[in-house]
Amino acid sequence: MSDMNNLSIVVFCIDYRFWPKALPLLKEKYGDFDLIEMAGASKNLIAPLEVEDKKTLLENIKISIELHKPNRIILTNHLDCGAYGGSQKFNSKEIEIEFHKNELREAKKIVQKEFPGMIVETEFISKDALGEIVLL
Ligand SMILES: [Zn+2]
Repeated sequence: MSDMNNLSIVVFCIDYRFWPKALPLLKEKYGDFDLIEMAGASKNLIAPLEVEDKKTLLENIKISIELHKPNRIILTNHLDCGAYGGSQKFNSKEIEIEFHKNELREAKKIVQKEFPGMIVETEFISKDALGEIVLL
């Protein structure tokens, strides 16, 4: 059993091109976590409260908190996410990254309001010049 005060919750997209490499990087950086995977990841948090996926995501965070007492929520988004229309929707990688960092900031505000006792971190899952998965 890990120290229960050092457990996190990770919110991640379903995308097979990103999670196999990104989840070990997150584990290396933050330690153990409960994993909530949902298409579009943090996009679901920014949706209006009546949207079913938002309710489901918040409910899953609540269940994790009740069961395992994590102290940190890590919100992620990733490059070329289909839920956002992919990289093709953006004129450049820089614009895409900036857009997602803004999305993550908005999602963080919402989560901090819903779960005031929790530390909320954001990570953008990108690729470096060699195509390797990196945390930004
Ligand atoms: Zn995605």
